[in-house]
Amino acid sequence: MNIKVIAFDADDTLWVNEPYFQETEQKFCSLLEDYLPHHSVGQELFKTEMQNLSLYGYGVKGFMLSMVETALRVSNNTASLDVIEKAIGFGKDLLGRPIELLEGVEEVLRTLHGKYRLVVATKGDLLDQERKLKKSGIEHYFHHIEIMSDKQEADYKKLIKHLDIPADQFLMLGNSLKSDVLPVLAIGGHAFHIPYHTTWAHEKIEHHVDHPNFRQLESITEVISAIPVQV
Ligand SMILES: [Mg+2]
Repeated sequence: MNIKVIAFDADDTLWVNEPYFQETEQKFCSLLEDYLPHHSVGQELFKTEMQNLSLYGYGVKGFMLSMVETALRVSNNTASLDVIEKAIGFGKDLLGRPIELLEGVEEVLRTLHGKYRLVVATKGDLLDQERKLKKSGIEHYFHHIEIMSDKQEADYKKLIKHLDIPADQFLMLGNSLKSDVLPVLAIGGHAFHIPYHTTWAHEKIEHHVDHPNFRQLESITEVISAIPVQV
């Protein structure tokens, strides 16, 4: 292992994210209960999000537009403007949430800082992710912040090219096997999976990873013992 750059996924790896979205979704489902049962609204919202993903990309703004579209569809265009206003308000609340760092994150960054080049590699809205980083208090640990429109093999190739290193000097840490692990292993990088207790349906996959460049960790602090730190 000759790792030079360690890239961290942000949402649900550095800080809490998915629980906030789930809370918002619950509120949205309650808002539309007059039209459809709670659970069905959730399914309709997910369907809209998946249809819009290639148009809007990941992040809160696309999620807001999908809430509005879903409200109109499930109500047969009869939802009041008050409902639409509330849905937009839910999205704005999401954008204003405080940043809650996950346990062990600061300790890991402090330990690895200066020994490796640390970068953030995240999807989501540009402005929102920049805001979260600024508010997180950990921005200064990172050499580079990459806000990616997607996390496919081609996106990682671009990032590694930008970092000017061979793929086998790149280590990605993240909570999504689909986005943070499999594409990185496929292009010759290293990837460690750090599961979070809840995962967005879109990121969920059943996959057993068996690869020499892969490690399954229980928590982010295990990174410190999984790679050489005195370099
Ligand atoms: Mg994540």
